Amino acid sequence: MVGRFAPSPSGRMHLGNLFSCLLSWLSARSQGGRMILRMENLDPQRTSRAYGEQIMRDLEFLGLDWDEGPYWQSDRGGYYQRCLDRLAARGLVYPCFCSRAELHAANAPHASDGEYVYSGKCRGLSPGEVEALEKKRPPALRLRVRGKERFTDGHYGPYEQDLERDCGDFILRRSDGVFAYQLAVAADDGAMGVTEVVRGRDLLSSTPRQLYLYRLLGLRPPAFVHIPMLLAAEAGPGEAPRRLSKRDQDAGLDALRERFAAEEIVGRLAYLAGQLDRPEAVSAQELAKGFQWSKVPKEDIILPGDLLA
Ligand SMILES: [Zn+2]
Repeated sequence: MVGRFAPSPSGRMHLGNLFSCLLSWLSARSQGGRMILRMENLDPQRTSRAYGEQIMRDLEFLGLDWDEGPYWQSDRGGYYQRCLDRLAARGLVYPCFCSRAELHAANAPHASDGEYVYSGKCRGLSPGEVEALEKKRPPALRLRVRGKERFTDGHYGPYEQDLERDCGDFILRRSDGVFAYQLAVAADDGAMGVTEVVRGRDLLSSTPRQLYLYRLLGLRPPAFVHIPMLLAAEAGPGEAPRRLSKRDQDAGLDALRERFAAEEIVGRLAYLAGQLDRPEAVSAQELAKGFQWSKVPKEDIILPGDLLA
């Protein structure tokens, strides 16, 4: 059994990231499993090593340890390129020259995650057309998709997606040369022998794309367990609860560490995850002894005001 932390070092961790990290760790440790730490820092504009170092200190502060890593995705470009080359050798990859504005104008929004279902516009470009377009702008690289993907999520049950209809050919490498999350995450979890991925349910709808990549790359997929999202209560009357973001400074770990001891933060998150009857201080080690997935709620969790006030 191998679990993993895979934070994106684009800022200080907030409660949403911590919640994922805690449940990943508890699930792995309660099964006697190992943990890997991988920094998802593919995008040099949005991530930094310094934030990665800070995330490690924060995980240590909370008592969430790991056995292997940190791996940095920024060091693994050669491996992602070899994966891409293998797909390209099978004729499954093609260049896409659509600009962001064109994609938004011409493609229907994806039902679940706000991304766009790609129409396949550049699928049939001739070599001559590709050559002419390459002089104007560098292309993104897309993967041809077909068929349905089905899997059973460890928390939410059966899930199915028709890749062509619900997602479309998706990007493996952006036009600026940055490898896409979908490729890197599947290639890495496969290569690192991860057997269980625990993450927020906002990523549930990207799982079929990753399973498709696992199959094409001949990698063994992990079990997926998605978890409810932590939401901030509405800011004003009539406003819906919303996703936590970096703007929620009070939910950031720097603010939390000023107000709470590590075991108080862990205890509050464990209470939200259904593992405690009261939000009392407790160590992660102690929690692992009695961790039960069946107690984790399925509904998204609205944060109590005292964690954000
Ligand atoms: Zn295109």
